[in-house]
Amino acid sequence: MERETKCIHAGYSPKNGESRMIPIVQSTTFKYDSSEDMGKLFDLEADGYFYTRLANPTNDYVAKKICALEGGSAAMLTSSGQAATFYSVFNICGAGDHVVSSSTIYGGSYNLFAVTMKRMGIEFTFVDPDCTEEELNAAFRPNTKAVFGETIANPALIVLDIEKFAKAAHAHGVPLIIDNTFATPMNCRPIEWGADIVTHSTTKYLDGHDSTVGGCIVDSGKFDWFAHADKFPGLTTPDESYHGVVYAEKFGLEGAFITKATAQLMRDLGSIQAPMNAYLLNLGIESLPVRMERHCSNALKVASFLEQHENIAWVNYPSLPGNKYYDLAQKYMPDGTCGVVSFGVKGGRAAAEKFMGKLKVAMIATHVADARTCVLHPASSTHRQMNDDELIAAGVGPDLVRLSVGIENVNDILADLAQALED
Ligand SMILES: *Cc1c(COP(=O)(O)O)cnc(C)c1O
Repeated sequence: MERETKCIHAGYSPKNGESRMIPIVQSTTFKYDSSEDMGKLFDLEADGYFYTRLANPTNDYVAKKICALEGGSAAMLTSSGQAATFYSVFNICGAGDHVVSSSTIYGGSYNLFAVTMKRMGIEFTFVDPDCTEEELNAAFRPNTKAVFGETIANPALIVLDIEKFAKAAHAHGVPLIIDNTFATPMNCRPIEWGADIVTHSTTKYLDGHDSTVGGCIVDSGKFDWFAHADKFPGLTTPDESYHGVVYAEKFGLEGAFITKATAQLMRDLGSIQAPMNAYLLNLGIESLPVRMERHCSNALKVASFLEQHENIAWVNYPSLPGNKYYDLAQKYMPDGTCGVVSFGVKGGRAAAEKFMGKLKVAMIATHVADARTCVLHPASSTHRQMNDDELIAAGVGPDLVRLSVGIENVNDILADLAQALED
């Protein structure tokens, strides 16, 4: 099946007389005929559901769909993108371990790594995504367990050279984890470029309608845990909390990572997505191909319009010819990047605030990547505590406006921008 077809059909095929749409299994628990049947589930000897804190059929239909889209071997939904990021790293790292991460990642991921996971004893080295191979290799330590990056960084809109990061990760015997939220599997499949694990905030384009917070982890099934067994004892030595199961042995390279994350992390931390939310997410994914096409074509028209406008100082959009990341974007995302454009209004902070106040179609919101065009001025909202010098150092100048271009008729978006930019 092509990706457009997978968005509709993958993950669930009803049998004779069954519901055509995925059923919402709104049940905390599942019934068994005997204690012996149930015991087999607890020993991971049999497949099945027993409690929705760990797994639920509705979630699994949707996870399988995203897995098929990314070209992975196994996948799981989580309650948020933050939970997906955390689980993807924590599943193979513990106190005393180290991770190499691109420095231009989503602010929430940065805080999770630099503050919260640091408190758990996991250290991160942040590298410039544009660094040389030598610089990247120099960031590794004997206790490095993973490399992390983002396909298109939110909000910096920097395109990651996935092959460069995959090569360095594999040379050091560790997997590459890629957050593919902004590109979506319609525009980029990181596994095809060497990524081992892919994460998503499904809250963004995958849901696409501003209605459910969620996340997903997809495993490629390609990383050979046994080839680096000493680095990954959690996958290659017995788990005493499941009667000595060795995940990579019992579930193979295809199933080990996701089974371990479900059996241990969902069991103990419980960041499960509600089945009702998974149902809504699935509805969103069905129209992902048509929405992404429109997001990208609208955003390119908006970026070109802004670039020509006399009151605009600069425009950043990776699909715009002349952009610093244009060539990388064409290589990894030839069909388009995403709907998010950032730009500077001439006249700095005051001009940016005045411009935003005049917008009528574009709504002021901290959200990005959904059907409605929305706009944010970080200097007066998310980065409000910083002065102008600090803002510039953080790469979010006082004039920066982040515009998430929606799927409305582009003429309405352009007219809105034009009237708001009038002197
Ligand atoms: C929003 C976002 C996240 C966090 O996802 P939530 O669903 O808000 O928890 C992670 N990565 C990227 C790139 C994001 O845009």
